[in-house]
Amino acid sequence: MKKIKTYTSLSDAIRDLFGNERRITGRQPVFGGDINSASKITLDDQTTLFMKSNRPDALPNFEAEAFGLETIAAAGCIRVPQLLGLGTDPEGFAFLLMEFADSGRRHPDKAYWSQFAENLANLHKIGAKDIPQFGFPENNYIGHTKQINTWHENWVTFFRDCRLAPQFEMASGYFEKSERRHITQLLDHLDQYLTEPDAPSLLHGDLWAGNVMTGSDGAAWLIDPAAYYGHTEADLAMTELFGGFPQTFYRRYQECMHLEAGYPDRRELYNLYHLLNHLNMFGSSYLGSVQRILKRYSS
Ligand code: ADP
Repeated sequence: MKKIKTYTSLSDAIRDLFGNERRITGRQPVFGGDINSASKITLDDQTTLFMKSNRPDALPNFEAEAFGLETIAAAGCIRVPQLLGLGTDPEGFAFLLMEFADSGRRHPDKAYWSQFAENLANLHKIGAKDIPQFGFPENNYIGHTKQINTWHENWVTFFRDCRLAPQFEMASGYFEKSERRHITQLLDHLDQYLTEPDAPSLLHGDLWAGNVMTGSDGAAWLIDPAAYYGHTEADLAMTELFGGFPQTFYRRYQECMHLEAGYPDRRELYNLYHLLNHLNMFGSSYLGSVQRILKRYSS
């Protein structure tokens, strides 16, 4: 994999990708992201591109995002924007360039959600044969927090060591002594709550509604992954964290992918990872949700 090219300036990237004579004539901000600046770039021949940019030290973050997008694209189940290039510009920013993917469609119908569910279930079936372990070939990022993907044979151990434990560690200053005891207990007994899947699945890893967008073909595309091989329930839980998708999506997903009994009892533990990450990235407004989940799973 790793096909994306690295450039030493934005203008070099544009020249190499679109020809020596091409010039940038427009740059409009695109809103909606939490971490990076995003813009729609227009070239003098009206070609449009999507660019994420940030400080130069964000380059590894863009490399990891590109690797996740390449991995999902290679699975061939669900579209992602075509990657164009990445790099660092002498003017002091790192950038990631990709296809501009917004079709302008704002009211997806049932067929859209049903097809998306089917495609996602197919993505989740990837890896079941070839990848015998949980993790990913490289570490990546969830938001701007490092996400450790060391291969593990056991899902619950992976979720404890590479997901919950590092986030709890980062957030330790928020918790009282008794809560820290609960956290240790929870981590020590995680296998009482979570189950092992039959096989690892390729996950998007950060699957909230903001990371699903309508592509130029009118279908749901995935953006901004924090990809790894894990339990499908982790992806599904995240879809429900900030509002959820329409019922058509969940119905179709379950027609395509068997959901083990008891998933609703595990959902919040999977989302605890994302809420802890929000606590670590954005501060104490997420503490109440984290504490409530901790209480629920403290026996
Ligand atoms: P961040 O890395 O800051 O979370 P996002 O990946 O969420 O950024 O993208 C920021 C905004 O840009 C979102 O509103 C998203 O819908 C939009 N966006 C992301 N990728 C594309 C793309 N390829 N084409 C058009 N718009 C995009």
